[in-house]
Amino acid sequence: MEVLIASSTEEICELLAQDSSRQLLAGGTDFMVEVNYRHRSPSSVITIDQVPELQNWHHDGNSVVVGSCVTYREIERGPLATLVPALAQAARTVGSPQIRNAGTIGGNIGTASPAGDMIPVLSALGAVISLRSSEGRREISLEDLIIGVKETSLRHGEFIESVRVPVLDSPQEFLKVGSRSAMVISVTSLAFITYPKTRSVGIGLGAVNPTPTRAKEAEAFIADYLDWESMQVDPSGLDPFKDLVSAASNPIDDHRSVAAYRRKSIGILAQRALTRVFTEGVL
Ligand SMILES: Cc1cc2nc3c(=O)[nH]c(=O)nc-3n(C[C@H](O)[C@H](O)[C@H](O)COP(=O)(O)OP(=O)(O)OC[C@H]3O[C@@H](n4cnc5c(N)ncnc54)[C@H](O)[C@@H]3O)c2cc1C
Repeated sequence: MEVLIASSTEEICELLAQDSSRQLLAGGTDFMVEVNYRHRSPSSVITIDQVPELQNWHHDGNSVVVGSCVTYREIERGPLATLVPALAQAARTVGSPQIRNAGTIGGNIGTASPAGDMIPVLSALGAVISLRSSEGRREISLEDLIIGVKETSLRHGEFIESVRVPVLDSPQEFLKVGSRSAMVISVTSLAFITYPKTRSVGIGLGAVNPTPTRAKEAEAFIADYLDWESMQVDPSGLDPFKDLVSAASNPIDDHRSVAAYRRKSIGILAQRALTRVFTEGVL
């Protein structure tokens, strides 16, 4: 197997333009599992985790631009965690410290697993993904990039350069259900983002649909039950809200759980996230 070590984004573009069948290796925490199980047998690999432009992030006015090779370790603490708390909460639940030292946000998107823990957060935040190739750059929503289970709309020779998310300075939550409390892939997960300026919420669902999904009806419904001054929620809205979130899911039975449990637990996670941010009180 040919292993090419890229040192700049320009070099990645050139190497992919020469041969677009070359495969990208970031932290390797998904890639190498597939190689070890012989589900993937690459003949040529480009390692991208040492490319400085991809390892960095910056705060750019109202948003944060996170390079695709920024690791969970970087996301889960420090200034990035303060700027985008839900992303940090999700990062803290990923694997073990070893996995979080190696695994990257770009790799989570590249794998495009419905259970990827970055996915519901990025969806609820309305993330914009920057893609790069020798042809130039283009920006795309997460929903347009992840188009099926482990399937992306990346073109030949294209890679994920960075992810842009808003800095909202308002409450955010990420919750996850697994078969144990740590080192576990999500059975269900949910991100709950508040948008005080528009007095709205964003709800991203994880592991209950093949592609990134927002619970749009539940988001619209709950708006009438929230008081943004006192940060209270009218309790009469809680059960219908939970049911609407469950209805936005279309889960499957698999080795991690059954669909019925996933459908029920995603609603409960939504209700829990809502009442962590808004206290119950009759409006
Ligand atoms: C023990 C263990 C526990 C885990 N726990 C969790 C968990 O709790 N939650 C969770 O979400 N995941 C978990 N994972 C999965 C994995 O760690 C994450 O999905 C991680 O984010 C993958 O990132 P990586 O840098 O290792 O990607 P890699 O394995 O290097 O790559 C993954 C895929 O993305 C592609 N890719 C990588 N970077 C780019 C790029 N810039 N542009 C285009 N394509 C790219 C690669 O070609 C490959 O197809 C776990 C894995 C292991 C082994």
